[in-house]
Amino acid sequence: MTNDGWVEIREDLRKRVGKDNYVTWIEPLKLSGLKNGVASFAVPTTFFGDWVKRNFAEHILNHMNRAGTEVERVEFAPVRKAPSKPAKPTDSTSAAPRSKTPAEDKEVPGAPLDSRFTFDSFVVGKPNELAHAAARRMAEGGPVTFNPLFLYGGVGLGKTHLMHAIAHELQARQPGLRVLYLSAEQFMYRFVQALRERQVMDFKELFRSVDVLMVDDVQFIAGKDSTQEEFFHTFNALVDQNKQIVISADCAPGEIKGLEERIKSRLQCGLVVDLHPTDYELRLGILQQKAEFYHTQYRDLKIAPGVLEFLAHRISTNVRVLEGALTRLFAFASLVGREITLDLTQDCLADILRASDRKVTIEEIQRKVAEHYNIRLSDMIGPKRVRTIARPRQIAMYLAKQLTSRSLPDIGRRFGGRDHTTIMHGVRKIEELMTADSQLSDDLQMLKRLLQG
Ligand code: ADP
Ligand code: MG
Repeated sequence: MTNDGWVEIREDLRKRVGKDNYVTWIEPLKLSGLKNGVASFAVPTTFFGDWVKRNFAEHILNHMNRAGTEVERVEFAPVRKAPSKPAKPTDSTSAAPRSKTPAEDKEVPGAPLDSRFTFDSFVVGKPNELAHAAARRMAEGGPVTFNPLFLYGGVGLGKTHLMHAIAHELQARQPGLRVLYLSAEQFMYRFVQALRERQVMDFKELFRSVDVLMVDDVQFIAGKDSTQEEFFHTFNALVDQNKQIVISADCAPGEIKGLEERIKSRLQCGLVVDLHPTDYELRLGILQQKAEFYHTQYRDLKIAPGVLEFLAHRISTNVRVLEGALTRLFAFASLVGREITLDLTQDCLADILRASDRKVTIEEIQRKVAEHYNIRLSDMIGPKRVRTIARPRQIAMYLAKQLTSRSLPDIGRRFGGRDHTTIMHGVRKIEELMTADSQLSDDLQMLKRLLQG
């Protein structure tokens, strides 16, 4: 097969890996040999080759075989270039544009960007509005006003999504801008590789030649001394040149254990914003957006009213789990050709729902109910019988029965050693009142939501 044959196969790969990955990683590959079942490709750098091997070798292999070229293995070797001469110092009196240093001539291969992670697909709600606004501002690419932008928050709350969105937006607005996005793990990996191959100068030059550097999950380099050191120097060099830096982590800069103090304080110098855990409205918004997307894929599928609300209510962990649940639900429903009802949802997602069930304790219930009705916690277990105290106590009993798996005698013990018949009476009383008293039923709804998070 010739390189032309490869170019045809390559086109096919575009569909498989997505446009961004294709342009960054597949297009630059040149078929340099095909012998004894081994296809060799020339790549710009060793790092590039390793990356492609790790992430795309399987796909390339499959596509070549499918196209009728028998290949057992693919190899990637960097093109050998003459060692680059150091850039000439520029003459500060001359008005001619500065010539590019070798590092600037090179591609800046970062990690591939996910084409789905854009601002358009990011649902904004109270918990993430600040982070979103900061990311938006940064993506406009104006003069650097805060450096770095530091985004932090728990898993699956949208840090990576926002970083990719910034990179996409910057590249769309300023195509020539050198934006480098990578995870802290990849930063380390490349640094270690540079050390091994004695190319630390190239490494430094490359990282100092970008316009925007984005490092995801920086907590990863905590405790890794020489990588931290290098990161610190890179960071300072870029800040000195007034280049923008965006960092993410799973907690605030000051709380990253094992991170050097000087790095912590540098990271705190810019704008630090956090992504809060999602709330019900945000989860519902995200689910609605995803459901709309699925509707374009599975046109005939119906989703019963209340299903998305149910999921937003019950799955309170991260957005990735929420998305996974919806994906599974649609796939399952389309397979069995049924409407997505609440029953189907509960069957299909039993494991996820169980895992994200929050365990509510009786103490929590008593505390929340006491707070809500403005009575003392001690009155929950005390003997007072006045209505203003007895009623909230019964509400707490009812919620204890509903939200925990405790037996009636067990609940009784936690309400000051009351008999199980007293508990049963309380539960019944509330069930009775609930149907007639809409204020009470609203209160119960709210308390339940509060307790289940
Ligand atoms: P993190 O990097 O904080 O762990 P990610 O950015 O990888 O989280 O987000 C996890 C998943 O949830 C991704 O698929 C992302 O698209 C999605 N996601 C998170 N927040 C939102 C949001 N506000 N709107 C839409 N999708 C979101
Ligand atoms: Mg992430």
